[in-house]
Amino acid sequence: MTRRILTLALDTPLDTFFDYSWSAPETGSADPQVGQFALVPFGRREVVGLITDIKQETDIDLARLREVIAIRSQLEPVSPDWIALCQFAADYYQRPLGEVALPCVPKHLRAAKTVALERALKKLAATNTRPSDQPVYARPTLNPEQQAAVDAIVTTKGFHAHLLFGVTGSGKTEVYLHAAERLLQQESAQGRAAQVLILVPEINLTPQLEASVHARFPGLPMATLHSQLAEGERLRHWIAAHQGKAAIVLGTRLAVLASMPHLRLIIVDEEHDPSYKQQEGLRYSARDLAVWRASRQQIPVVLGSATPSIESWQHAQTGRYRQLSLTHRAAAQARLPRVGLIDMEIHKAPDGLSQPLLAALRARLERKEQSLLFLNRRGYAPVMHCDACGWISNCRRCTAFMVLHKPERRLRCHHCSLELRIPTACPTCGNVDLQPLGRGTQRVEEHLQSIFPDARVLRIDADSTRRKGSAQAAFESVHRGEVDILLGTQMVAKGHDFQRLTLVGVINPDTALFSQDYRAGERLFAQLMQVAGRAGRAGAKEGELQTSEVLLQTRYPQHPLYQALLRHDYVGFADSTLAERRAAGLPPFVYQALLRAEARNLQDALDFLQQARGLLPTEGIVLNDPVPMTITRVAGVERAQLLVESASRPQLQAFLKPWMQALRQQKSRLRWSLEVDPIDI
Ligand code: ADP
Ligand code: ZN
Ligand code: ZN
Repeated sequence: MTRRILTLALDTPLDTFFDYSWSAPETGSADPQVGQFALVPFGRREVVGLITDIKQETDIDLARLREVIAIRSQLEPVSPDWIALCQFAADYYQRPLGEVALPCVPKHLRAAKTVALERALKKLAATNTRPSDQPVYARPTLNPEQQAAVDAIVTTKGFHAHLLFGVTGSGKTEVYLHAAERLLQQESAQGRAAQVLILVPEINLTPQLEASVHARFPGLPMATLHSQLAEGERLRHWIAAHQGKAAIVLGTRLAVLASMPHLRLIIVDEEHDPSYKQQEGLRYSARDLAVWRASRQQIPVVLGSATPSIESWQHAQTGRYRQLSLTHRAAAQARLPRVGLIDMEIHKAPDGLSQPLLAALRARLERKEQSLLFLNRRGYAPVMHCDACGWISNCRRCTAFMVLHKPERRLRCHHCSLELRIPTACPTCGNVDLQPLGRGTQRVEEHLQSIFPDARVLRIDADSTRRKGSAQAAFESVHRGEVDILLGTQMVAKGHDFQRLTLVGVINPDTALFSQDYRAGERLFAQLMQVAGRAGRAGAKEGELQTSEVLLQTRYPQHPLYQALLRHDYVGFADSTLAERRAAGLPPFVYQALLRAEARNLQDALDFLQQARGLLPTEGIVLNDPVPMTITRVAGVERAQLLVESASRPQLQAFLKPWMQALRQQKSRLRWSLEVDPIDI
């Protein structure tokens, strides 16, 4: 009887692999292979793990090994490249392999029962034929800059990271699609299968790109991967990618970990976007993993942005990334919008909208053009307060305010989701005249409706789009021209190609100027460039002047960030930011990791971190003082953090591994976690 020892990675925090014994269920059954999944007993449960090693013999006492229950032999093994990617992420982010590899696999595949898997495989087998890669859709002729970018991407051999630096509306999508097309054609001419991975920062941007891809490559099998898929769909799409059937895989950050055996090109759209950073569990950067994956597989990766992250800009400056520039808008007649600053010291606006902004909105309504108002704060007002005694709506579980949500008649904490009915009187003094303070999107919406009663105003934010599919429906109605004034949070700022939009108003961007977070400026600049870029994309109509403009309400019109924005000057902004970071010893000139601890009692969390500080010698490493996090208490839990820094990435990595082992051995009952390359400090 054939017997093997299988080593498996399992989804547990224990930093080890697990051995099981396997014996052929019947003579002639195929041997298991590395990269297959297997169902095994684990404690009292049955779990699915990934086979990482197979041994013929072992000096372990066979009687003590537990038996594999079943091998998922219906499915091809994952490739060594995929396991290497997961292993890299595991090592780099200081997690066991199983905690990285298994959560990227659909739930149905990790289930004890295989009904769903069989069903998905059957469905996919029915669509087995691969249509021709010949596009039929009439595509625009690339301009010389776009052409040069595509040529650079597809003609280089091996690994190259390209930074596609193109102003908003410069036709980056066109470059992605042409590069994908050329690559698929090249490979198919050589008789090789090929796959292209395209990452976007937001789920809401997938339908738009999906539609472009479908139009460009009719019938070409494609898979989408994002967190809102139903489990059955996710399984089918994951398998289509894994079997190499999907020639194009489109998805959000989690798609960077898709199994794609014939991967030949990776594209990361809006590479600067903070959504590429996973903020819980395995806190990985999908952009960074994309670059690593491309280098491991010796293929090109394209990072596209109008406002590259400071890290990527630095890599382009030093020549590590190759810069490809698109310097003007692609559509005929389209120009970048004029940016104007409205000085709010001069134009008082008790309701948040200044006279010049209102006049500009009125002009758009008269011309039947669309406007967009950007305010990065949802709810009606960020806080309620009592004039009589000074009470304010603090959350009792967090160091944060409860936000007033008027349509829902609730106070809501955006940190712990606590909800209360709006108090009818002040809880401390009984005053019945409680006032909202400041404004969010709901309040501006109310105000707009009262000034322009005939205008069709649509608010898009996390509150207005809770139902599945509602965000997409809302964006479609904007595209169909059913909306005059679109109002929203950063959800409306990203990537959408609105054709009739000629005015962008930015309501209250100033708070980010004074944030403690050293990245706040970079983020604000990117966000403003991005939202400004929604205006004037189609160009003026025949014979008309370009009238699209961006109006920004600020109390600091002289601030260098706004001055750079006036000139659409990303390069100036990035270079001065880099110089500041260098002088201050901040990333990308230093490498960081953040140890966080949570406890009922703040002192316990601080003590834990203080003790962690002294565990190991720290050659070339700086361990800062433990400090409470900015929002110290969330849902009744106190949080503190310890920042670890080094001028050398390898040195930091060399420190973190034994440090994590030492910390795990402490067996502290406190919850703690490590984040490498944190972006929120
Ligand atoms: P970006 O992603 O750089 O902001 P898009 O790819 O959305 O820009 O392109 C902006 C607009 O320009 C789109 O409407 C697109 O169809 C159009 N466009 C892109 N390339 C060309 C071209 N070569 N000729 C004409 N129009 C183009
Ligand atoms: Zn009061
Ligand atoms: Zn709260």
